[in-house]
Amino acid sequence: SKDGGGGMFHAYEPQLHVAAEERRVLEFALRAAVEQGQMHLTYQPVVNARTGGLLGFEALLRWTHPEFGVIPPAKFIPLAEETRLIPAIGEWVLRTACAEAARWEQPARIAVNISSEQLHSPAFATTVADALASSGLAPGRLELEVTESVFLREGTSAVATLERILDLGVQLSLDDFGTGYSSLGYLAHTRFNSIKIDRGFVQSASRGTKEAIAIIRAVVALADSLGMATTAEGVETEDEHHMVQAIGCTRAQGYYFGQPLPVQEARALVSHTGRA
Ligand code: C2E
Ligand code: CA
Ligand code: CA
Ligand code: CA
Repeated sequence: SKDGGGGMFHAYEPQLHVAAEERRVLEFALRAAVEQGQMHLTYQPVVNARTGGLLGFEALLRWTHPEFGVIPPAKFIPLAEETRLIPAIGEWVLRTACAEAARWEQPARIAVNISSEQLHSPAFATTVADALASSGLAPGRLELEVTESVFLREGTSAVATLERILDLGVQLSLDDFGTGYSSLGYLAHTRFNSIKIDRGFVQSASRGTKEAIAIIRAVVALADSLGMATTAEGVETEDEHHMVQAIGCTRAQGYYFGQPLPVQEARALVSHTGRA
């Protein structure tokens, strides 16, 4: 597969069904990956859906193993979550993304994916505050993306952590909306700035599926009335752009606007946008 990059992971689908032996090898390798500098971030453009103008980027993690090649996040993030490696990896992602965005010539926004496990650590809000302070990034430029799974676990610790993060002035967005256990209640109880509509809906809608179109319309109407932005994910064609534009999504992201880019290219794109 094009994800595997050869080696022993080649034969497996990039799903959660990782065989026990492969899992052990992967877990062992993952423990060393951050320390040995095998991780890097790519930056995918997020644009204004109406104008196509650059708003910022989503930081997406990449792991290049010296033997196994590129291992996709869909394969190692779940493992990192199960093995409690995610706090360290996630902190590296957050600090790296903040430090990079602070160097950009324009105040573009940077979105960072946060696993619910990270939010269940009481120290996480302090980590966010420290990443902002040490990078000098304005809090309003940082957007944390969380999924609905954050609300599933017992107890209110994650919600309390989210509140502390919001009080820092950081933005919060609800990722993969519509794929999980969507409850509109979450939107009432937590101050999300934006809802990201999963690629699956965008695809179904672009194939003309009436239900998908109706759901996107309803989500956009709801978000509008709550003063939240809506990001259409996985926009791959001009037609899809026109569709999400017509429905009224405020932001868009997808291969049509740009692949996840190496850091230098993202930085250049920001500079270019500034001059335009
Ligand atoms: P996500 O947060 O929903 O990120 C969007 C995914 O869709 C990315 O996959 C991106 O490369 C892909 N994508 C963007 N535009 C298009 C498009 O037009 N078509 C298609 N087919 N795909 C598109 P990626 O980079 O493989 O990441 C997969 C997932 O891994 C992410 O889904 C996120 O849940 C997780 N992830 C990635 N980086 C991190 C991280 O730093 N921390 C955590 N906790 N999770 C991460
Ligand atoms: Ca995301
Ligand atoms: Ca998403
Ligand atoms: Ca996802």
